[in-house]
Amino acid sequence: MPYITESGKKLITVIPGDGIGPECIHSALRILEAVGAPVEWEVREAGASVFRRGLESGVPPETIESIRKTRVVLKGPLETPVGYGEKSANVTLRKLFETYANVRPVREFPNVPTPYSGRGIDLVVVRENVEDLYAGIEHMQTPGVAQTLKLISRKGCEKIVRFAFELARAEGRKKVHCATKSNIMKLAEGMLKRVFEEIAPEYPDIEAQHIIVDNCAHQLVKRPEQFEVIVTTNMNGDILSDLTSALVGGLGFAPSANIGNEVAIFEAVHGSAPKYAGKNVINPTAVILSMVMMLRYLDEFEAAETIENAILYTLEEGKVRTGDVVGYDRGAKTTEYTEAIIANLGKRPRTAKVRQYRPIRLPQVPADPVSVRPRSRRVIGVDVFVESELYPEPLGRLLEELVEGSVFRLKMISNRGTKVYPPTGAITDVVDHYRCRFLLHGGAGEATDEQIVDLVQRIGSRLRWMHLEKLQEFDGAPGFTKAQGED
Ligand code: NAP
Repeated sequence: MPYITESGKKLITVIPGDGIGPECIHSALRILEAVGAPVEWEVREAGASVFRRGLESGVPPETIESIRKTRVVLKGPLETPVGYGEKSANVTLRKLFETYANVRPVREFPNVPTPYSGRGIDLVVVRENVEDLYAGIEHMQTPGVAQTLKLISRKGCEKIVRFAFELARAEGRKKVHCATKSNIMKLAEGMLKRVFEEIAPEYPDIEAQHIIVDNCAHQLVKRPEQFEVIVTTNMNGDILSDLTSALVGGLGFAPSANIGNEVAIFEAVHGSAPKYAGKNVINPTAVILSMVMMLRYLDEFEAAETIENAILYTLEEGKVRTGDVVGYDRGAKTTEYTEAIIANLGKRPRTAKVRQYRPIRLPQVPADPVSVRPRSRRVIGVDVFVESELYPEPLGRLLEELVEGSVFRLKMISNRGTKVYPPTGAITDVVDHYRCRFLLHGGAGEATDEQIVDLVQRIGSRLRWMHLEKLQEFDGAPGFTKAQGED
């Protein structure tokens, strides 16, 4: 529920942001004023200026407080200046308010020529927005080997998949694709595929299809008009949605929304484009369309449609277009383009159509941290990651010697995922980072923490280890994958 002011209007938080952000936001707010929607705003800071004041997150408490109150944000792009802060202020905002769904629609615009003009591209990328490699959990495991953890939860998958189907229904779309790399990352990316296939039958009115993400990229370039909604993991969605922006005329036309159960943040896909900052030449459409998405979220469907129609009419008329469309030597000023849209409020384009929207029903996924409760579970072994200068064979022999007499046996050693011991005959270049897989002798029973500690102490007496991973079975199914070449 939005915050309602004393004058009965819906209150939002506006963050002008960095670079071209303030120009874009100014343009959007002028249009919002002109359309007369019952929306008020309070302006708050985040980004470069805040980092430079020494605040490490780039998001000051007054901004967080305002968002907690209004729950709806219209923001410009934010920069993390080099040398300040470790984390991006954007990611901080998305995570702080658990905006788990990143919605990136693209459509063909009249008079914005692209190689795809006339093919009617109109699709939405729904990107999971908080998990995956963007959890930002990174370690240097050896001085020369870095690791980023890719965490995908069943709960996160369920939220984003349900959201994508609900979005399809709200927007009258008939098809949802789920794009994953489940053929390689069977557990993590495979989780999204499995959850998608499990939930799809609950939406019999919508066609559901899984697609491998690399083929999805290929199909998007070849025949983008076949897609309506694509739901995908965070990293895939980041890349695919920049690709889809380019199909319809570039980042100047790509809006987005970050939606959570409590808070929603609306912003362009583009960044602060510093080289254009303050020059009054950039295209504010992406931010204006992000505001249109915000108006729909606030149930202001009429104002949203009026603005979208005015944008389409202005482009269709073709008299006032920005430099990214017609070349910066001939393009209209940002302010001129804004005025043209304002003058066209109330007009309807001749051919381009605005889609009819219904309020979206946000999925209700139980808050319980546990989403899967297996009937049985068992620790059957452990992967010990070691840093070693040795080549695989001497390392294997040393480990076998070290664990002699313990409850574990060395099953295999892999180097960056490929089995290198016992030797397979494969020609593998190795680095000083090995995963050594130990299983309980005989395969029965369960490994105890004491036994694992004993194993690690034996290994640690001669080798440097840096990471342990228990090998678990849930309901009899292995909760781990095999190395390339492992039997
Ligand atoms: P960018 O700011 O998106 O700009 C890349 C290029 O896209 C521009 O040089 C320009 O292309 C075009 N462009 C972007 N917005 C445009 C607009 N409104 N109108 C016309 N053309 C537009 O990407 P970047 O240069 O990689 O990033 C700059 C900064 O923004 C970085 O600090 C980055 O971290 C930050 N960033 C923030 C966000 C966010 O807040 N959500 C998102 C992305 C990046 P041409 O050069 O071809 O004219």
